[in-house]
Formats: sequence, C-alpha cells, structure tokens
Amino acid sequence: MVQKKLTKYRKMRDFEQTAEPSGDAAGLVTKSNRRRYVIQKHAATRLHYDFRLELDGVFKSWAVTKGPSLDPRDRRLAMEVEDHPLEYGDFEGTIPKGQYGGGSVMLWDRGYWAPEPGFESIGSALRKGELKFVMEGQRMHGSWVLARTKRDDSGKASWMLIKHRDEAAVDGNDAGPTAEDRSVAS
Ligand code: MN
Repeated sequence: MVQKKLTKYRKMRDFEQTAEPSGDAAGLVTKSNRRRYVIQKHAATRLHYDFRLELDGVFKSWAVTKGPSLDPRDRRLAMEVEDHPLEYGDFEGTIPKGQYGGGSVMLWDRGYWAPEPGFESIGSALRKGELKFVMEGQRMHGSWVLARTKRDDSGKASWMLIKHRDEAAVDGNDAGPTAEDRSVAS
C-alpha cells in the first residue's frame, strides 16, 4: 500500500544521483501514535516551502510558494505534489543540478499535527477539499486550514493554506516566520 503510493515519487528521481531517500525502507520507520509534519525550505529553480503531513504511512505534500503566514488574512497558495516517504522528514542537503528539484533543502520546521475535532476521517476531509488541523512544532503553532480551490485537467490540485485566528496568529506578519532562516535540525 505505502509502496504503491510512492510510485510517482520514485519515477521522478534517480537515486544513483540524488541523496534523497528512496522510500525502500518505508514501513521500517518507527510508527508513532502522533502524526508528524515537516516544512522544508527548498531553494530549487524557484524558492518554495514543502509542507508535508504524515498520513497512512506517507507524507501528503504541498509546495507553498511563499511559505506559511501567521496572518489569518493571508491565503498562501499550496500546490499539491506527490506523496513522499516518511524518511523524507529527516532529509536535508543538496539535490544535484539537473535532477528533479535540484537545489538545497533545509529542515525549516517540524513537529506534530492533528485534525480539528469533528472530522469523521482525514481521508474524506482531504477528498472533500477542506482539512482543519492543528500543528505543534518549533515554528508553527495552533489552528490552520487547507482548502482546495481547483483541480486542473491533469488532476493537479491547488489549495490555500490559511492560519485560523487564535493565540498563535499574528496580524500584519510582513516579514513572516519565513524571515527565520535557520535549520531546526542544526
Ligand atoms: Mn520542493
């Protein structure tokens, strides 16, 4: 099941060339009863922040162009991308030029996430296109929503990542948390 979800991820990469995890060890990663999330700052052709939520043995993944904002008035475009192996949650380093996503990857934030109470299943919330959830990590806190806005002919989905108004929200968050530029792993 997990291996099948990673087919697309693997097809896009040459593991002789990139140090990214192949996901072959998927299933060997210690199961936690809390779901992890990770945000990786990815200086590829275009700088973006890869946002990943652990679900059913993989990381559901979105590329957030400008990174998360703590201002509830900001709607940050989040392009859905291929599922990543859980081992990716520890990856930091440089993807060689010419390879998919060539550039540097930095662990910008990590922690745990949970759906807001009231969802029958996370899977059906994602299929319906609205997931309300909380994150507790080193940089992200409190309640958020991912809302799908459209899906193009090829099936690619666009979402918005928006902060809910709570104690962790910051109005007029111009520089944003993305001004903080140190790896959470170092
Ligand atoms: Mn990326």
